[in-house]
Amino acid sequence: MTQFNNLQPKPIWDFFSQILTIPRPSDQEELVREHLIEFAQNRGLDHEVDSAGNLMIRKKATPGMEKRQSVCLQSHLDMVCEKNSDIDFDFLKDPIPAYVDDDGWIKSRGTTLGADDGIGIAAQMAILDSHDIAHGPLECLFTVAEETGLTGAFGLGEGLIKSRILLNLDSEDEGEIFIGCAGGIDLTAWLTFEKVNTPANSEAFAVTVTGLRGGHSGDDIHKGYGNANKIINRFLRIIKDQLSASLHDLEGGNLRNAIAREAKAIITINKKDEAQLSSLFEEFKQNMHKENPVTEPELTLELSHHSLPDQVLGERSFEQLINAISACPHGVHAWSQTMPGMVETSTNLAAIRMEANEVKITTSQRSSLESAKEDINQMVTSVFRLANARCQKSTGYPGWNPNPDSPILKISNESYQTLFGTKPQIKAIHAGLECGLFLKKFPDLDMISFGPTIKGAHSPDERLEISTVTKFWELLIDILKRIPNA
Ligand SMILES: [Zn+2]
Repeated sequence: MTQFNNLQPKPIWDFFSQILTIPRPSDQEELVREHLIEFAQNRGLDHEVDSAGNLMIRKKATPGMEKRQSVCLQSHLDMVCEKNSDIDFDFLKDPIPAYVDDDGWIKSRGTTLGADDGIGIAAQMAILDSHDIAHGPLECLFTVAEETGLTGAFGLGEGLIKSRILLNLDSEDEGEIFIGCAGGIDLTAWLTFEKVNTPANSEAFAVTVTGLRGGHSGDDIHKGYGNANKIINRFLRIIKDQLSASLHDLEGGNLRNAIAREAKAIITINKKDEAQLSSLFEEFKQNMHKENPVTEPELTLELSHHSLPDQVLGERSFEQLINAISACPHGVHAWSQTMPGMVETSTNLAAIRMEANEVKITTSQRSSLESAKEDINQMVTSVFRLANARCQKSTGYPGWNPNPDSPILKISNESYQTLFGTKPQIKAIHAGLECGLFLKKFPDLDMISFGPTIKGAHSPDERLEISTVTKFWELLIDILKRIPNA
């Protein structure tokens, strides 16, 4: 760790290198929490742990700053633990093998670095430890299990946050200030089907869709990438109508928060229709390439012979399934009216799987507006109810609707421009942050989220740009200086 000694500003790097030595996988944050409690006790700072395991450390205002509004700085204690398979490494014991690279980045040797959100923790510790940084009454909140489902934020103790201003230190692009995020909810539908014996003189084929980009159902939903479930369903529609084809099996997509990249169907047709199937397939393939020349250059559609199954879906069941998938919306549903270019509401037709006598269809919806999130979820539910599906919605989590008139945004914006001579980008993300959940318990919180630049988060490629840590630190302490009186 000695190489961190030469980096400035020293306090934040000292605490960051300390954090790298303490294990902190999601749901196993005991060691790092204990470390921080001892840190607080050694400095005579008050601390409180809620029933979810979140830690709050409080520090009094520095002299002359007592009348300022109280501010809560927040990071999460846990980190994603991913490593390359050729590395012998135990996240419960070993210090992160971080190093300073010549190209101006901190990296790790084959493991996640945990700068997400270790750099936020380090900044909080450096301020709690300081004697020469001016600040009003200060709270430092450290949440647990952010990476595995925002569990700490869900279970946040009543009354734990006393401040009305919160700075979330968990975003990953220096130069951007975030003022909103999306809430999410899932809708899972099960369509019952009947099976019948495969008609006489049938022949079976596998149809596959591969090579799509996929991507994250929040961050990438506006990019117009193909959805493998939608694409394969269009071909099923064509061959059912024109060749009276039958369906034996259908599966597509995988994770609920990923856009479906691949899909596969096993179909049967009458032997005499093979030539026609090939020509319909060729025509369909050409149309798909014409529709997606830029967004999906690697799109691959394949048709191949398959062993003949004993059974296929009954005609009515097949019809119902095609209609449901065709009618189910996918993609951006609404753009923000107050933040141009921001997706407000979207839905992802994520996955299709055949179970014993049901097809399971997984979808997920996002919106920065709670009412709009419920509405898009209801819309998807309606589609599947019309198809007589059994529907189940998840509990979901709330969003954080951007407030372009936020006082803390105004302060931060001015601070950024004074310090660096350029305007920060003001953004909202179409994915979940803990802030949405904080707002649910503390509706009058005024929040922003910012951080230094981290690339490759959640993978062994995770890296932290050194120069942006300096700017992040300067911005943070300047904002604290500018907080007005209560
Ligand atoms: Zn994070």
